[in-house]
Amino acid sequence: MVSQTEIVVLGAGIVGLCSALQLQRQGFEVTLIDRHSGPGRETSHGNAGLIQPDGFPPILFPRDWKTFASYATNQRNDCVYQFSALWKLAPALFKYWQMSRTSSAERIVAANLPLFTSCVEDHMEIAKEAGVKDSFRSSGWTRVFRNESNFEAYSKKIRALAGYGVNAEVLSPSELQELEPGVQIIAAGAVRLTDQLSLASPLKLSKAYFDLFLKNGGRFEVGDARTLVMKGPFQYAVRTERQNIESKHVVVCMGPWSGDLLKHFGIHLPMFVKRGYHIHFSTTDNVGLRHPTSDADGGYSLTPMDDGIRLNTGVEFAGRDSPSSNIQLARVIPLAREFFPLGDQREARPWVGSRPCLPDMLPLIGPSPKHPGLWFSFGHAHHGLTLAASTGRLLAEMMKGVTPFTDPTPYNLARFQ
Ligand SMILES: Cc1cc2nc3c(=O)[nH]c(=O)nc-3n(C[C@H](O)[C@H](O)[C@H](O)COP(=O)(O)OP(=O)(O)OC[C@H]3O[C@@H](n4cnc5c(N)ncnc54)[C@H](O)[C@@H]3O)c2cc1C
Repeated sequence: MVSQTEIVVLGAGIVGLCSALQLQRQGFEVTLIDRHSGPGRETSHGNAGLIQPDGFPPILFPRDWKTFASYATNQRNDCVYQFSALWKLAPALFKYWQMSRTSSAERIVAANLPLFTSCVEDHMEIAKEAGVKDSFRSSGWTRVFRNESNFEAYSKKIRALAGYGVNAEVLSPSELQELEPGVQIIAAGAVRLTDQLSLASPLKLSKAYFDLFLKNGGRFEVGDARTLVMKGPFQYAVRTERQNIESKHVVVCMGPWSGDLLKHFGIHLPMFVKRGYHIHFSTTDNVGLRHPTSDADGGYSLTPMDDGIRLNTGVEFAGRDSPSSNIQLARVIPLAREFFPLGDQREARPWVGSRPCLPDMLPLIGPSPKHPGLWFSFGHAHHGLTLAASTGRLLAEMMKGVTPFTDPTPYNLARFQ
């Protein structure tokens, strides 16, 4: 059986879902395809649930030797690497290092700002339609520091961002105690980024967006996106479990798996992943965690969620499909227990996921110049949940041919070719 659709979106993570919804808003008929039988089951499920409008400064590869050396010893909590993966990751990491100059940082901030500035509003528009506006908690995100000089340095950095509209409160240890009575370490101080929002379940958000997509007339099919073929300009076909689907346009939103498909089209990107773990804990002594809080010097974050207190780790450089490693969690769980009265660990095995990264820490949004009708939206790295509604809007405006709300040039494929 063959069926026709205007646009196929490959990947039903938060980026694919928001792209599909924004395309519907522009009047397109959309079919969403994923290898799983439901939406949001991969990276978009396991994250820390934060919407971070202040996340526009890029997370750069360290270029000063002192910091670099501290990473090289592989003894840090916030960032570890699997030695066996390094040779494979080396070319992409070298590009990441190259693109982490101070001059690049300014360019990346300028490119990021329009997306981050509109991220809350764009989510809210979709969330309102989906009836889940209240899922976005006005929690802020509190970063607690054990070390005085790290606290001073971070406070200074955040104060410097005030000119960009970043709102933050610097908290003394007693103010932190009032905000988060369960924190049981003697902190040097804390900084609360007040504009951040958080979710109690990123998966529930994906499901609500998915229901809206179906309600708006969208179709969902289970299938392997790697069956996609280009038969000619604006002629694509992909096989699902039920049928072959033909379309004029295809959007690749496969997060960390996007590169696998693009290779079939002769597009080789310096993509890499920053893996991260989560595990849930119950609370003890009736002390609940009130807000998302990170132990900044400990290198992990805690978010109150439906499944318990979710502990998310920082970054692990490893192959996307490499076996999980216990190293980072083994380092941070004792610190977390010292930081907050955590109860039982709720799962025997942690979840592991992969932040899809490009070396300049900007997503890839736009068309393939050599494949008319093929479009991309992936590479959202640390901020896919935050940015999905806005990058979806940008993509949909480009595909519709209306003036996009921001210049799409910084996100195009040409920067890697
Ligand atoms: C530990 C951790 C914490 C994070 N915290 C935050 C946070 O607090 N805030 C924030 O904004 N971001 C956060 N992120 C980043 C964010 O989660 C990601 O950027 C985002 O989820 C990427 O979404 P995506 O839709 O591109 O990818 P995914 O959610 O991975 O979706 C890709 C989809 O493609 C599908 N797919 C793959 N291959 C195929 C195939 N062959 N055929 C069909 N379908 C296929 C998959 O099944 C999947 O559904 C975090 C990430 C991690 C790992």
